[in-house]
Amino acid sequence: MTGKNNEAESKRQRDYIDKVRETVEGKGLKYLVVTFGCQMNERDSEKIAGALREMGYEQAFREEDADIIVYNTCTVRDNADKRLYGRLGVCKAYKTSKKDMLIALCGCMMQEEQVIEKIGRSYPYVDLIFGTHNIYKFPELLYRRLSSGSRIIDIWKETGDIVEDLPTLRKYPFKTGINIMYGCDNFCSYCIVPYVRGRERSRDPKEILREAERAADDGVVEVMLLGQNVNSYGKGLDTKVTFAELLKEVASIDRIRRVRFMTSHPKDLSPELIRVIADNEKIARHIHLPLQSGSDRILKDMNRHYTGEQFTGLALRIRAEIPDVAITSDIIVGFPGETEKDVDDTIAVIEKVRFDGAFTFEYSPRTGTPAASMEQLSKEYVQKNFDRVLGTVQRVSKEQAARFEGRIMEVLTEGEDEKDPSRYTGRLSQNTVVHFTKSGPGPGAMVKVKLDECAGFYYNGTVWVP
Ligand code: SF4
Repeated sequence: MTGKNNEAESKRQRDYIDKVRETVEGKGLKYLVVTFGCQMNERDSEKIAGALREMGYEQAFREEDADIIVYNTCTVRDNADKRLYGRLGVCKAYKTSKKDMLIALCGCMMQEEQVIEKIGRSYPYVDLIFGTHNIYKFPELLYRRLSSGSRIIDIWKETGDIVEDLPTLRKYPFKTGINIMYGCDNFCSYCIVPYVRGRERSRDPKEILREAERAADDGVVEVMLLGQNVNSYGKGLDTKVTFAELLKEVASIDRIRRVRFMTSHPKDLSPELIRVIADNEKIARHIHLPLQSGSDRILKDMNRHYTGEQFTGLALRIRAEIPDVAITSDIIVGFPGETEKDVDDTIAVIEKVRFDGAFTFEYSPRTGTPAASMEQLSKEYVQKNFDRVLGTVQRVSKEQAARFEGRIMEVLTEGEDEKDPSRYTGRLSQNTVVHFTKSGPGPGAMVKVKLDECAGFYYNGTVWVP
């Protein structure tokens, strides 16, 4: 499916931004957007914050200081659900002492019927609820809430529209995410995303390039192209374009110094993409390639469409063709039916691929997915295997991290080191964090740094003066 950019709708929402501004003007109101989950949510939150800023709200830094709190929720794992309900409990106290405070909820969790029922029953003081498909309607929904005084719930099951060209407030002025596609058609059996984010739809490449150019005009030097499965970008578009071609085009924008992307499904990662990355220094030497399991049997039950051997072959080809590349991953332990032998297979892949890092999760069933109705494993059994996998990941990625010690490499400066104000913190193209002595230009600058010491998973370094 392709999503058509709906310009008339962006104009409508801009009109609502003006209307809210007229309503709240001069009141000195403040907002806080709290984000759970992935980079897609981070990007959505920048859009919500951008709209609030244009409506005349100032940013608050604590919940108790805000006049509107927006929780942008995640439902990929159940601890994110629990965190939201915890926050809502605290909000009840705020609302008792500050009657006009508004609580808004959006994001993936809101696409689940049982969640909406529970909020309706147990959290009547929530003022505004919307979902993933109509996030762009936030200005209109907020205006309706302010003018009617009653709770607004607006959840859509699906949409073909893509509404961009609305204000956005970047968390960092020098780097940004750009959505290149929405939704996912893969239906991995443990994953809720296709149900809550809808069918896959790619944005028009011209619009993506326009957004990247505009970001560069604003001083952005690093962009991250975002999608649930970027490697299948372009399906259904009138213009035939692959993800590799799009990546090359974005990297050719002069003022953009670094391009990242997230996330890749191993089954769709093409030799063309590997070549484009290898040939283009601006494209980050970092590929996030979720393994999930190294066992062929479990991978089949997960509906992942590759074997442990195919994954290993792909990863080793990437390492051979892109020198110094960092490969990171996601691994699930405790999927229904997983045995110790399956976990041994996962460990064998980790050892062969030598991941530079991997998020290791205990499987948590998501209601409505096929895996949730399979027989679940006991917590103790999963815990033992989880510890084995985590131990391997930590050892291997620590060894990998140390491989650049002593080298001089380019670092994008991100800001002051939180623990030591005499230093800056930045990132290598490989995404590894580097702390280095303050000298020369600050956040947003690319500097050459000598990586003096690897301290586990990050480096301490000094700015290199030839
Ligand atoms: S590729 Fe699989 S894990 Fe990733 S979002 Fe789609 S269904 Fe979920």
